[in-house]
Amino acid sequence: MTRIAFIGLGNMGAPMATNLVQAGHEVTVFDLSAEAVATLTQAGAAAADSAAAAARGAEIVITMLPAGHHVRQVYEGDDGLLAHLDSSTLAVDCSTIAPEEARAVAEQARQHSVPFVDAPVSGGVGGAKAGTLTFICGGESEAVERARPVLDDMGKAVFHAGPGGAGQVGKMCNNMLLGVLMIGTSEALNMAEANGLDPAVLSEIMKESSGNNWALQVYNPYPGVMEKAPASNGYQPGFMAELMAKDLGLAMHMAVNSGTATPMGALARSLYTTHAAQGNGKRDFSSILQFLKGGEL
Ligand code: NAD
Repeated sequence: MTRIAFIGLGNMGAPMATNLVQAGHEVTVFDLSAEAVATLTQAGAAAADSAAAAARGAEIVITMLPAGHHVRQVYEGDDGLLAHLDSSTLAVDCSTIAPEEARAVAEQARQHSVPFVDAPVSGGVGGAKAGTLTFICGGESEAVERARPVLDDMGKAVFHAGPGGAGQVGKMCNNMLLGVLMIGTSEALNMAEANGLDPAVLSEIMKESSGNNWALQVYNPYPGVMEKAPASNGYQPGFMAELMAKDLGLAMHMAVNSGTATPMGALARSLYTTHAAQGNGKRDFSSILQFLKGGEL
């Protein structure tokens, strides 16, 4: 049993924290949304009225927040988490943020003698609920090993990618590929339908063919093909289009800084950003299929 503080109980954080409660840990939670906190107290967690209060006495603090500025706000500053912690607490940020922001928070943590790991995840809400996430960690080996048993209770794989920020580099590369894959899969399914081939039939064909990919296996973007996918549930997230646009923005920043050619990633960023700007930011990112159709959602 580990005393864990969990901050950020959204689409991902809520099921992750629930799995920690179910694994027998003592979990104290905080979120700006009282509704999100109530869901976790019903699941058996204790509630705190601030991030710092949740972290008091915790062996591990886990954060799962939307973007870099939320993470910096929660950790840094006079009233941030780091001002209240010392080396007895390990801080693990599972949010997807820019590698340089993760390194900046890690440096602040070092100045407070707080071990810090960036540990963004892959696997989506389905993986968070099932406890089958993949954690991509950056930080000192000792800190990653200290986090591993708790991460194992929420996931199926824990990778130590390298030093601070390396987890976010790995995550950005993966999500750029995912963004491109979802658009390519949507294009193929749309084209099938326009030519008289049932998208459900094509999905089965492609799963056994060279076009097989994660979107086809667990996250089909065509409504009605996969019962539990967001597409069959009015594109309720899941993973919001605005978060995919954010991740692709971070990936493009990385590409420019490293002089890497990523024309498909750049196009994907442009398409998700336009889709989000047209009022679809809070919908699941697989609704990009409807954007390609040019239709109303
Ligand atoms: P979300 O918007 O559903 O949840 C974020 C939660 O953080 C919300 O409940 C919000 O109230 C809370 N929050 C914001 N600021 C806070 C603060 N200062 N203090 C306490 N709580 C605060 O987002 P999500 O989908 O759960 O994603 C979280 C992170 O995980 C993002 O960085 C995202 O890119 C990444 N991610 C998401 C998925 C996915 O499928 N949804 C998959 C992998 C990674």
